[in-house]
Amino acid sequence: MIHPVPGAPLDEPPPICLASLGEGFLAKPLPGLDDPEGARLPEALPPVVDAHVHIFPPRLFEALWRWFDTWGWPIRYRLHAEQTLDFLRARGVRHMVALHYAHKPGMARALNAFVAEVAARHDDVTAVATVHPDDDDPAGILRDAFALGLRGVKLHCHVQCFAPDDPRLEPIYAACAALGQPMVVHAGREPKSPGYACDPHALCAAERVEAVLRAYPALKLCVPHLGFDEFAGYQRLVEQYDNLWLDTTMTLADYFHVDYVQGTPPRRVMEARPERVLYGTDFPNLPYAWDREVVRVARMGLDEQRLARLLHGAASELFGLEVA
Ligand SMILES: [Zn+2]
Repeated sequence: MIHPVPGAPLDEPPPICLASLGEGFLAKPLPGLDDPEGARLPEALPPVVDAHVHIFPPRLFEALWRWFDTWGWPIRYRLHAEQTLDFLRARGVRHMVALHYAHKPGMARALNAFVAEVAARHDDVTAVATVHPDDDDPAGILRDAFALGLRGVKLHCHVQCFAPDDPRLEPIYAACAALGQPMVVHAGREPKSPGYACDPHALCAAERVEAVLRAYPALKLCVPHLGFDEFAGYQRLVEQYDNLWLDTTMTLADYFHVDYVQGTPPRRVMEARPERVLYGTDFPNLPYAWDREVVRVARMGLDEQRLARLLHGAASELFGLEVA
């Protein structure tokens, strides 16, 4: 058994060990886990918001799954947008925050229109806009997206090949700060893959995110995956800055062997600033059971109030949701 995440059960198969320091966690594609899945969320949990669900139009979703097959991991749930939302809803998830991203300039308007249409059909879905840093008039794209009912903006440093403090992002940060729209930016260094057109380790660093937090104190910024793999760096930032949130997505699932670089995922963050950490999954693009992460969260021994903040309170505050 390789260093389990604190609170993870000891009777599970060992997590995947990747000692390829520098090459990234996706130096080679990872295997899927044939772990058992629950029929519903564990009983006795407070309401659950999944703050990190992905929906894309069908052909783009299929292209993404091919990318994951080649570079990432086998996708266990090949579900399109409505199926994805139905699946989680049927298992008891109370609200879903639907994220997507534009791989190239010129795509964002069509993608935003797609997710806005899906979200408009459901009271339990909040869809987030995207924009590409090289789009013409990013601020205009976002204004239109918010007018369609989208909430916040998702960007991805690895896919879109930018550093968090890239000057091309200034109009986007400024627009979101001015409009009170939260941003979800995959700004952590991992999982790095040779399948990306750029090197995330060269682009991403907690210090670069810190520069953004300092420059835009009114911006609400959420970094997914607890900042994987700079857990210690992001823990410091979230304790120090009032404009930073983190989401747990995949890092508490005991899948990546995450404790050899920058420390174990920071349980301390959930103790010290539980109002700043959002539960999220990356569903449906997962190599393991849909409830693998929440089952481990339920066993962490967090007190009732911290558990409620993690599972819905932080997301409700950041995205302005009404979840009982
Ligand atoms: Zn994601």
